[in-house]
Amino acid sequence: MVGNVAYTRNIRVREARELLRVSQSALQDANRELQLQLDEISQLQTQLKQQADSDPLTGAYNRRYFDVSINRELSQCDRKNQPLSLILVDIDHFKAINDGFGHQAGDQILIALADILRLNSRASDIVCRYGGEEFLIALPNTDLDTAVQRAEQYRCAFADGEVSWQQHRLQSTISLGIACYPDQAAEVDSLLRCADLAMYRAKRDGRNRSVAYSPELQEHSPVRPVTNR
Ligand code: GH3
Ligand code: MG
Ligand code: MG
Repeated sequence: MVGNVAYTRNIRVREARELLRVSQSALQDANRELQLQLDEISQLQTQLKQQADSDPLTGAYNRRYFDVSINRELSQCDRKNQPLSLILVDIDHFKAINDGFGHQAGDQILIALADILRLNSRASDIVCRYGGEEFLIALPNTDLDTAVQRAEQYRCAFADGEVSWQQHRLQSTISLGIACYPDQAAEVDSLLRCADLAMYRAKRDGRNRSVAYSPELQEHSPVRPVTNR
């Protein structure tokens, strides 16, 4: 009788253990599945953020990203007592490329320019497509002279390159305006206006050139909206 009770209890214990083992294994499977789903969600979130921050044609940051980032960059420069330069880039006679070879050819030029800008920039620089055929690069910890050198690097690389389009080899040039915070302007809108005035001067002086902002440019200020801002 006692032996029977012990035997039955043993069987029950074994059954309970087996049930526990199966439950634990099911729980581990569910955990693994949950982790996979969490990883997938996290990847999707990163992709969504990239899409929200970038221009789909060129992969450069978009204007929205510039607008939300620039004040943070300026604050960091303030804390470290460093300058920040802006380089505004505009393709010369871009309309003629579209008119002569078609919009898709123009798109290839935009892609090529964005690649050159990124290739010649540091990881800490913000390269963004600011408008149709205008790009804006923010260069933290960069003074005006260094930014002018960089602008020349962009300009020469773009002028020397060519884009194959159907049976054509397309070449183009850019004009660039450079301005530096905090020496030339104390906040974003006026800094942009300085870069825009300098870029406009580069256009007026014959295009395919870089111009650094200087206060005299204000005297010949054109009637032109500041980069559609
Ligand atoms: P300038 O040297 O004075 O800058 O002359 P421009 O012809 O480059 O300037 P304009 O403002 O007259 O023309 C800019 C053109 O850029 C007009 C517009 O159709 C074209 N554009 C804007 N966005 C895009 C785009 O995403 N793709 C293409 N292919 N063209 C674009
Ligand atoms: Mg333009
Ligand atoms: Mg243009």
